[in-house]
Amino acid sequence: MKQADLLYTGKAKSVYRTDDPEVYIMKFRDDITAFDGGKKDTLAGKGRYNAEVSTFIFRYLGEHGIRTHYIESIEPGVIAVQNLTMIPLEVIVRNVAAGSIVRNYPFREGAPLDPPVIVIDYKSDAHHDPMLNDELIYALGIATPEELDQIKAMALAINELLSKYLDLRGITLVDFKMEFGRSNGRIILGDEISMDSMRLWDKETGASLDKDVYRFEKGDVMETYAGVAKRILSAPWGEVK
Ligand code: 5GP
Repeated sequence: MKQADLLYTGKAKSVYRTDDPEVYIMKFRDDITAFDGGKKDTLAGKGRYNAEVSTFIFRYLGEHGIRTHYIESIEPGVIAVQNLTMIPLEVIVRNVAAGSIVRNYPFREGAPLDPPVIVIDYKSDAHHDPMLNDELIYALGIATPEELDQIKAMALAINELLSKYLDLRGITLVDFKMEFGRSNGRIILGDEISMDSMRLWDKETGASLDKDVYRFEKGDVMETYAGVAKRILSAPWGEVK
């Protein structure tokens, strides 16, 4: 497979076409941003860690029956993925109250959310990712009721699998963001699942193990990313049933 022209460049990844129209190449860059792009930096090696963790999680989910866009790893920080028509939704599952839900609603930081809460934002830089509800999603023509039901069911199944896995590694999955796409009428998990898109707390100490370290200057970002990548990747396959 040969890399062709640049299709899309986001805040932290670039996507290239290949000579196969069904396959794209996704490059995880070392750029890191927060607060709607208001804070920006480049941290050498960050892309590689996020790619490694995303790859591991996609493979783990795939082994457990979740359809993902992951095809194969090409080199550090670079993976081949299936060409999806992306659905402009940020699907967030929350197990513990933190971040914007605490700022915007009367939740106490750290309060468990059981059952988990799904929050869906409109992925649009121009509109600053506003929260949607089901009716707005249908009215905007973003997804059908059947598709949205499927997306929510997949999001909860992914949350259960990931929470269980990370718990065994001593990590609480506080919340995380997913993006989905369509291919041949099927809903497939796309984008990435990494330290940039999950909120992770150490089960013992409560320490942040994710992009909050960068957002709120809680410590050395690269040390945190390297450490959490090692913890996530250290488990043998098949440990979680
Ligand atoms: P919050 O709404 O609390 O800011 O974010 C909830 C969760 O979704 C966090 O784990 C956060 O990292 C993730 N998230 C929300 N919006 C985005 C986004 O635009 N990009 C990425 N990578 N993650 C996001």
